[in-house]
Amino acid sequence: GKSPHQPLMETELEASRSSPERVKAYVGLGSNLNDPETRLKQAFEALDRIPRTRCLERSRIYQSRPVGPPDQPDYLNAVALLSTQLDAHRLLAELQHIERAQGRVRNRRWGPRTLDLDLLLFADLMIETPDLVVPHAAMHQRLFVLLPLADISPELRIPGLGKLQDLIKACSDQGVRLLD
Ligand code: ATP
Ligand code: CA
Ligand code: CA
Repeated sequence: GKSPHQPLMETELEASRSSPERVKAYVGLGSNLNDPETRLKQAFEALDRIPRTRCLERSRIYQSRPVGPPDQPDYLNAVALLSTQLDAHRLLAELQHIERAQGRVRNRRWGPRTLDLDLLLFADLMIETPDLVVPHAAMHQRLFVLLPLADISPELRIPGLGKLQDLIKACSDQGVRLLD
């Protein structure tokens, strides 16, 4: 909040700039094709280059068996914490642009991919539109999302879903391990 002791000039200046609010957003990264570790590292860098956006933190990288068709390589997963002035839909469009730039081809549902970027959380908003659901609709039941999220923000509470640590306990039987 603004302190009442701030000089008037500065406050007026800030108002006239009409700069959009900066918010925090968490993005889930996944890859199981074409050198996944390199894909994730390049994705972290690409996230930091999104306009009006900074990548503040990166989780460690985790390894897990695929969701869906089992006849595909293991996944590597991670989470990034962004600070952004974009709105959620614009940010999703930027994530999809990065996916395409890294050569993602849409094929069968949950099939192998070079890069998957999911918008997990955006500020403390709950969004339900045809193109975008936030918090991400499946994140609470995926240990490969929750563990890297906890690397960055172990005390997180997720809108509508409760404490991150409780969600982790509920799916602790899933086989997810740190990349060695
Ligand atoms: P899952 O969503 O179960 O992880 P997926 O990542 O394989 O599956 P995609 O094919 O990458 O699914 O995305 C399908 C659609 O999901 C996208 O076209 C996008 O519009 C929509 N979508 C809805 N909410 C989100 C979100 N929070 N993050 C990313 N995509 C989303
Ligand atoms: Ca996904
Ligand atoms: Ca996705």
